Amino acid sequence: MKLINTVEDFQKVRKTLDKSIGFVPTMGNLHEGHSSLLLKSKTANDITILSIFINPTQFNNEDDFKHYPKTLAEDCKLAESLKVDYLFMPSPSDIYPDKYTFKVSELNTSSILEGKHRPGHFEGMLTIVLKLLLIIRPTRAYFGEKDFQQLILVRKMVEAFFIKTEIIGCPTIRNKNGLPLSSRNSRLSAEQFERAQMFPKLLHTSESTEMIVNQLISAGFEVDYIEDYQNRRFAAVSLDGIRLIDNISLEAI
Ligand code: AMP
Repeated sequence: MKLINTVEDFQKVRKTLDKSIGFVPTMGNLHEGHSSLLLKSKTANDITILSIFINPTQFNNEDDFKHYPKTLAEDCKLAESLKVDYLFMPSPSDIYPDKYTFKVSELNTSSILEGKHRPGHFEGMLTIVLKLLLIIRPTRAYFGEKDFQQLILVRKMVEAFFIKTEIIGCPTIRNKNGLPLSSRNSRLSAEQFERAQMFPKLLHTSESTEMIVNQLISAGFEVDYIEDYQNRRFAAVSLDGIRLIDNISLEAI
């Protein structure tokens, strides 16, 4: 695996690549959810590129940004074991030479669900994804259904800006209790992690969303939203300030 730390260096390498490229953008602290995206890329492309970039512009909460888990040595080992070809790890100043004066705004889907509760999050996310797609120019890019609203928005952006990359959605990888694997799970204490196992269970019940909200509150969660939208149930909760999101197809209930 070749490590590339600057946009300029990547662009030099990119000129030498004329095969199919699969791209998996991440913020690191890799787990089996990320691995599933990388494995999909490996099977469909000649070259797989992973990026690790904790994108400052998509955090609307300073504490969340400051404490975002960083496990670079383990991430490199996992990426090597999965035979990733290139690991791209640019710095914020390299990615934002404009100091984030240019940004991508979407005026419809980004103002509901996550967007309503995390002002500026989707602007930051769409801006970094656009920049990465323009730098990497992949044949295919892989995104998890765990962040379903993100996946919808990325698909719409790619269509709106005539970007040729094919966007591939990948199923959510969960633990044995149905809790989606997430980098933020590692911030939970043992007791909080135990409590978190209730989240997917309650989400999957056939009760009304109002009832589920009440049950989650009784179980000690702070609830941002539980909402049914386009045949899916979307949810965001926090445990002592640590935010967890999930979504499921309503057909799974
Ligand atoms: P992140 O590093 O959290 O920004 O995630 C990078 C990519 O991995 C995104 O496309 C996520 O949707 C995806 N991802 C994160 N967790 C999971 C999971 N448990 N299952 C499937 N994909 C995931």
